[in-house]
Amino acid sequence: MADKNYYDILGVGKDASPDDIKSAYRKLAKKYHPDINKEAGATEKFKEINEAYECLSDPQKKSNYDQFGSASGPQGFGGFGGGDFGGFGGFGDFGDLGDIFGNIFGGFGGGSRASQAQRGEDLQVQITLSFEEAVFGVTKEIQVPRYESCSSCSGTGAKNGTEYTKCTECNGTGQVRYTTNSMFGRVVKQGPCKTCNGTGKVIREKCTDCSGNGYKKVNSTISVKVPAGIDDGQVLTMRGKGNCGKRGGEDGDLHIIVKVKEHNLLVRDGYDLSLKLYVPFYTLLLGGEVEIPLAKGTTTLKIPELTQSNTVFKLRGKGIKYLNRETYGNLEVTVIAETPKTLSKADKKVLSSLKDSIKVDSFGRYKDYLKDLKNID
Ligand SMILES: [Zn+2]
Ligand SMILES: [Zn+2]
Repeated sequence: MADKNYYDILGVGKDASPDDIKSAYRKLAKKYHPDINKEAGATEKFKEINEAYECLSDPQKKSNYDQFGSASGPQGFGGFGGGDFGGFGGFGDFGDLGDIFGNIFGGFGGGSRASQAQRGEDLQVQITLSFEEAVFGVTKEIQVPRYESCSSCSGTGAKNGTEYTKCTECNGTGQVRYTTNSMFGRVVKQGPCKTCNGTGKVIREKCTDCSGNGYKKVNSTISVKVPAGIDDGQVLTMRGKGNCGKRGGEDGDLHIIVKVKEHNLLVRDGYDLSLKLYVPFYTLLLGGEVEIPLAKGTTTLKIPELTQSNTVFKLRGKGIKYLNRETYGNLEVTVIAETPKTLSKADKKVLSSLKDSIKVDSFGRYKDYLKDLKNID
């Protein structure tokens, strides 16, 4: 189809008027009409003439054909395959497919992505907090390697931010039109200007700080305010602290993934804390006071006498402060009787005497158990 030139087929010039086209078509259609012309190939020729006329007689189709080499216009993406890609070789950096497609689809209309503002990439870092830092909040200074807009040249890449001129190649638009050979013949396309890399500016003298890039890799010190109540796995996002944007694009974001170290004794579940507290069995029998940890510092837990093992004490408001709220979780302490690993002879004697003085009736659940055991069928 690349060789098919509708104008040649009808034998008219590109500037032919609609009337010229019409009369040329009539003359040829009469000459090659299958009913009149019985020569070999006449039918093919007749079809070709009709195809050409159908296109050139329709203002929209004609305009598409003139511009894109196809009556259907640029939508016919399938037709632009193959060698056509070769035409892009000389135009700037087409590092990824996105840019290639951006040119094919976007290039016709005018704006091509290569010359447009480009948002900076988002960055991701991880910070590790102590249990206490997470509970009470902390301000951390972190080092983040990132691209920052060059302050010496205000991101222009030109010395002092002033040593540049308008690109004469594209007249400062950053876009140039160029022709390429496609299956449909010569096609006019638009793409980023390679003289100025689509910026519309030509740097007269490069900024020495950033070698003319307008941005540079730096190790930024960023102050992160971690709010009280942050939990393991949560992500803090700092707007604009990622890589800087290019050609005036907005800066990317910095995502900070928070890791929280575990507490030695307390287990965190959201804003609640729990503690499994093993105490000597006699503390549960006689009652007593045990020092227990809080998110910060310690407090005293009073255990009343005759406390059953596995009793849970709920300390309201002794958990973690909610994120951005003046509310606190709870601390639940489960007390468990622990028996000693060894006993002296004297201990055994004392305990044996207890066996005789404390009747089985005093042990409600054990008594019930013995009763149920007897009633097994
Ligand atoms: Zn240019
Ligand atoms: Zn600079």
